[in-house]
Amino acid sequence: MTTCDILAIGEPLRELVQQEDGRFTGGFGGDTSNMLVAASRLGARCAYVTAIGMDAFGDALLNLWTSEGIDCRYVRRRSDGPTGAYIIATGPEGPSFTYLRKGSAASLMSAADITDEAIRSAGFVHASGISLAISPSAADAVTSAFARARSFGVKTSFDTNMRLKLWPLDAARPGIHAVAAGVDVLKVSLEDAQLLCGLSEPHAIARHYRGLGARRVAVTLGAHGALIADGLDMTLVPAIDVPCIDATGAGDAFMGALLACLADGASSAEALRVANAVGAISTMKRGAINALPRREELDAFLGRPPVHGDREAGNSTRK
Ligand code: ADP
Repeated sequence: MTTCDILAIGEPLRELVQQEDGRFTGGFGGDTSNMLVAASRLGARCAYVTAIGMDAFGDALLNLWTSEGIDCRYVRRRSDGPTGAYIIATGPEGPSFTYLRKGSAASLMSAADITDEAIRSAGFVHASGISLAISPSAADAVTSAFARARSFGVKTSFDTNMRLKLWPLDAARPGIHAVAAGVDVLKVSLEDAQLLCGLSEPHAIARHYRGLGARRVAVTLGAHGALIADGLDMTLVPAIDVPCIDATGAGDAFMGALLACLADGASSAEALRVANAVGAISTMKRGAINALPRREELDAFLGRPPVHGDREAGNSTRK
């Protein structure tokens, strides 16, 4: 029985941001964690398969997920690796990023950390290219979970999120394409597509990944909007004109909204419209999760009246 709409596998990160006075404030990152927060705020039932260390950063992330209503029963606390983190420092040449994720607890995850029961409980099993890159055992966890999901009839979703700091293009391309080939929902950014397959035209990118075997392909285009391909149908939406303050995490916001809508039975075109709006809203405040809207805020932004009890409201059979 499906008890969870989205089960994500991935690496969360604690964020430390240097302020003007030199002090650091704590925030949250990690693409799959951001994505789950976005989806949960829209009413999707979400669970996370990950690992964090026995440390204060892990405590902070656990508090975040709990307060956001994300099911943490598959979150493992490990003593053999710390919670991953990154530092955004300010300097005369702008912000600089330092990642402290080598040997992170999440990178120590393996296929054995993901039970059949967890996979069977999900509507979608989601992962990203980051898990493929951080360690062979985390990559194996994703490929094993996706293979099992397929055999159980559970849908799979993948965000390419290629990070060339983590692995070279020559390794990333075959690794990402092997996973992308069989998924039900693939999200790829224009930048990733340009590097991965040398294409820059959104329809051509979608056709390429449909040709590889991905059922639905969403191509994110930053301030130019997004496209989704579902079968032979393609829908392109322009970006919504918003005062963009910080586009970090817009792709995660988009992904979370897309999956929340698809899990709720929306069509690809409707899911795209909502994801495009949530991506836009997410850019209106600093930080990856600060601006993520709840269902009522999204409805107000889209100018539609709140609806109770039907699929659009996302509250008929879900929390
Ligand atoms: P990623 O590259 O991480 O996949 P993008 O930067 O393309 O993510 O952003 C994801 C989505 O968020 C876009 O496809 C678009 O819908 C929305 N978006 C991003 N930047 C803006 C912006 N400046 N204005 C409006 N919408 C935006």
